[in-house]
Amino acid sequence: MSFLQPAPRLNNPYSHDRVLQNWLRTVFPVTHRPSLTPDLQALAQYAMDAYAERLITPRQEPVLTQWDAWGARVDRIALTPTWDQGAGITTQYGLLWSGHVKDPEGWMRCAQFARVYLYHVASEFYTCPLAMTDGAATVLKASEAQSLIDRAVPHFLSHDPEKLWLSGQWMTETPGGSDVSRTETVARQDAQGQWRLYGRKWFSSAIIGEAALALARPDGAGSGSSAIGLFYAETRDSKGAWNGLQVQRLKDKLGTRELPTAEVELDGIPAWPVGEPKHGVRRIAPMLNITRTWNSICAIATTRRAITLAIDYCHRRQAFSEYLLKQPLHRGTLADLVAEFEAGFYLSFAVVRLLGQVESDCATDTETAVWRILTPLAKLWTGKMAVQITSECLEAIGGASYIEDTGLPQLLRDAQVYPLWEGTTNVLALDTLRALGQTGIEPLRQFIEQRLRNTDPTTATAIRQPFDAAAHFLDKASSQRSHIEAGARGLALTLARTTAAALLAENTDLADADPRTGLALQRFLSHGLDRLPSQYDDAIAEARLLDDNLSSD
Ligand SMILES: Cc1cc2nc3c(=O)[nH]c(=O)nc-3n(C[C@H](O)[C@H](O)[C@H](O)COP(=O)(O)OP(=O)(O)OC[C@H]3O[C@@H](n4cnc5c(N)ncnc54)[C@H](O)[C@@H]3O)c2cc1C
Repeated sequence: MSFLQPAPRLNNPYSHDRVLQNWLRTVFPVTHRPSLTPDLQALAQYAMDAYAERLITPRQEPVLTQWDAWGARVDRIALTPTWDQGAGITTQYGLLWSGHVKDPEGWMRCAQFARVYLYHVASEFYTCPLAMTDGAATVLKASEAQSLIDRAVPHFLSHDPEKLWLSGQWMTETPGGSDVSRTETVARQDAQGQWRLYGRKWFSSAIIGEAALALARPDGAGSGSSAIGLFYAETRDSKGAWNGLQVQRLKDKLGTRELPTAEVELDGIPAWPVGEPKHGVRRIAPMLNITRTWNSICAIATTRRAITLAIDYCHRRQAFSEYLLKQPLHRGTLADLVAEFEAGFYLSFAVVRLLGQVESDCATDTETAVWRILTPLAKLWTGKMAVQITSECLEAIGGASYIEDTGLPQLLRDAQVYPLWEGTTNVLALDTLRALGQTGIEPLRQFIEQRLRNTDPTTATAIRQPFDAAAHFLDKASSQRSHIEAGARGLALTLARTTAAALLAENTDLADADPRTGLALQRFLSHGLDRLPSQYDDAIAEARLLDDNLSSD
């Protein structure tokens, strides 16, 4: 028998994740741990079982049946077995309700997202509708629409799988996903005064959900973006039949293939305005804050999974008479990835912590401002990171990683979604600019300085310098909109990296911190924090570079 290579093994994602363990030990309050630990252990076991199952079971995907045998339009969607377990897992382990438990110190979001972090990869992106449902609950709770709150929120946050409702987020249409002011869906009132929606929603990832928050333009309301309203709709009538909508098809996607993302034709679905039927883009913003936070945590969960497998493999694979672990270049390549991941982890969970504080009214004005700046930053940086690191981890596992039944190609395909949905990298960089425009950069400076209180001067300077360069760029370029926009991505990445470094530094300085956090910090610093553009807004040169005509004049 010829050589057989042992496969990479998945270690327990709770007990073997030293970064998660360190964060739980140093940041998460000891008083809250007894109610969280058993859930994390159970979700880690679920993740390990799902991983083992995936290696021996052919992949399944949702199937849409539009017509029954007798010609009736039915639009039935059969889900994967993992998706069929989703409601039970969600309610049992509080993936939604735990984030809305009242806590005067605002730790509930940390407790929720630690669970999400462990569940996500095993969930086959069931976390996508969970994110939108969490967002819908948050939007409704913040609205003045008491009857909708009473009707929907108890279902969204239910402890009972039979009562759980999922919500979609119907924003993207064919004219625009980033620019939803181009929304074509129309809201009309019928003779009884009931609002109804007409139009096509181009990406609906929670089409199996019982409800949705939809952007639509009230008939005759005018063309501006402020005329768009936010509406709550329920997808099924009292008998369980689709209610004024048709599922045109499920999208044939690069990744997230277990997630049924549909194109939906709205043909008079009953809907209720959330507040006055205008300023819908503004009204749905709290939903985006929530879904972007889910995106950050899910992106680092995927990143962690890829790294774990690559690290395990380097103990099992030999090349040139040595285990890969002993090859300095391979080892260094993986250590670089770990340091980036660790920084992404601390930034993402800092956003989660701030979200909890803001929602519990225990955040200072500075913390609230910082939360607004960091939410898009964490999403854009970790989204990109997930693709880059997952790709590098596949390379670290070699040619086998390109083969489907290792399960590894799926990780990379799935990762590509993180920079796309809930705002692309550029759109989030511009959102960061808007957040900075409201408060300036001082709150973030204060936040970083607080983190650096006990940091050694050399490390602190290595973090302050790129931050100061970013502040200087913001100051210098902000007089010209095109300049500042052209550099927005570099600015965002620099701010994300400097904040993450400050968070790592703060953790390193804690008495009971894992000493490897300090190693990760130094390695992360060695990659540089400054991503500011050296050249930007040279419109003429750029246009010439994009021009593929053979004539160069
Ligand atoms: C798997 C999947 C599921 C999805 N599910 C949902 C869902 O359930 N509900 C929903 O509403 N949407 C959903 N979406 C849609 C997603 O949110 C949009 O695709 C995304 O917001 C981008 O919009 P777009 O596709 O129209 O791209 P565009 O808006 O056309 O953007 C194209 C490119 O232009 C760039 N760009 C745009 N404006 C600017 C600017 N001012 N400056 C610089 N660059 C700019 C963007 O960064 C992007 O790279 C889903 C998408 C995917 C892939």
